[in-house]
Amino acid sequence: MSHDFDLLVIGAGSGGVRASRIAASHGARVAVAEEYRVGGTCVIRGCVPKKLLVYGSHFAEDLEDARRFGWHIEAKRFDWPTLRDNVAAEVDRLNGLYQNTLDNNKVTTLPGHARLIDANTVEVDGKRHTAETILIATGARPFTPDIPGAEHGITSNEVFHLPTLPRRMVIAGAGYIATEFAGVFHELGVDVTLINRSDTILRGWEPALADRLLQISLAKGLNFKLNCRLERVEKTETGLVLHFTDGKTMETDVVLWALGRVPNIEGLGLDDVGVALNEKGAIAVDADNRTNVANIFAVGDVTDRVQLTPVAIREGHSFADRQFGEKNWHVDYSAIPSAVFSNPPLGSVGMTEAQARNAFGQVRIFTSDFRPMKNVLAGRNERALYKLVVDAATDRVVGAHMIGPDAPEILQAVAIAVKAGLTKAQFDDTMALHPTMSEELVLMR
Ligand code: NDP
Repeated sequence: MSHDFDLLVIGAGSGGVRASRIAASHGARVAVAEEYRVGGTCVIRGCVPKKLLVYGSHFAEDLEDARRFGWHIEAKRFDWPTLRDNVAAEVDRLNGLYQNTLDNNKVTTLPGHARLIDANTVEVDGKRHTAETILIATGARPFTPDIPGAEHGITSNEVFHLPTLPRRMVIAGAGYIATEFAGVFHELGVDVTLINRSDTILRGWEPALADRLLQISLAKGLNFKLNCRLERVEKTETGLVLHFTDGKTMETDVVLWALGRVPNIEGLGLDDVGVALNEKGAIAVDADNRTNVANIFAVGDVTDRVQLTPVAIREGHSFADRQFGEKNWHVDYSAIPSAVFSNPPLGSVGMTEAQARNAFGQVRIFTSDFRPMKNVLAGRNERALYKLVVDAATDRVVGAHMIGPDAPEILQAVAIAVKAGLTKAQFDDTMALHPTMSEELVLMR
């Protein structure tokens, strides 16, 4: 039986757009359904606008440091609507580019919420479409806690659109999103308090780096309330009052939930078609991204494996190549670099010291703990920390972790070396590039 489309993708985010474009380039007739805006979380309300806010907020410190470099800028004033609206305009521009990409590749966009009717039929906004193959790429959304008054809080979806800058903000969580927005809003002059259920920030990251971020953040004046449990949020005339299980309370103006993200599976009709979920409530897929229903596939955050944009993009690309291009390749999930755009930022690739000890037994650890040259002249007492983890038996560098200015930019290049399996001796053989921060990577003895 001939279907309306060869491929119908649900979700026009990073994974869905890439899969659509590549499948279309292989000659497939492709449609993509999207209920919000083409571009997905990363472009519309994630990585991209967040990074622009990080740039915008960092001027606060740059302008302060400029004085020690001879620059006197007297009339310093920050205007939130200018930054907010310029970021929104850039998001609009990128949204347009993503739509152009789909149009130029002859991918049909179906605006509206999509729901599976059967294994080959999808209903979008009341209209039914059939397809030989279906790809679910609906991503994830912020988790909000199940406590009274949670609705008074906002998530990373709304934070980009704040009408005014609050005087006080509580950020619940201590992972990527919490630490990134804590840095942004503190720099913009907001009194930020980060609260978390455990005493750990950035769980899973090299503990020495997470601890360095905590120490620097405390020195900058951010507040932390760790090991605490929130019971309810009460809205009062003067703001929001947080009630903790130990009986303590605190008042704030905005609460931002940054407690992880959950797969977007609601209203997709997965039950009706029998698409199975895994124990985390995400769509279960095999190595080919295939669900338990033979012609239905899933990529990206809705499968909750590695919640990173470049991973979703590559999954979408490899899926489309395999299904429609006769190119049989799979995503390599080893040594995926990642960064936290906190202030200062972190970058990491490969194993932490603890993971390497578990895997190899004997490891050698090299660290460089230094004050970047710019910070010295600026009188800024913030130290960078780099750490290399080496498998003692083979001399291979199996992990690189950094916190300090531009750490994510530097880390991307180091990730090539770690991925390629280079040895510590090969790092040492490389001539330093002086004066840079990254030269530390080849000078650790
Ligand atoms: P994270 O998983 O990074 O952090 C979640 C935080 O919330 C942790 O501090 C955790 O505490 C706490 N937490 C989790 N569940 C609960 C709960 N039920 N009640 C109370 N506290 C809870 O999540 P984010 O929301 O910050 O980010 C989601 C994902 O998005 C990231 O994991 C990352 O993959 C991706 N992302 C990547 C970015 C980047 O690449 N720069 C930027 C933003 C997001 P504890 O540690 O104590 O368990």
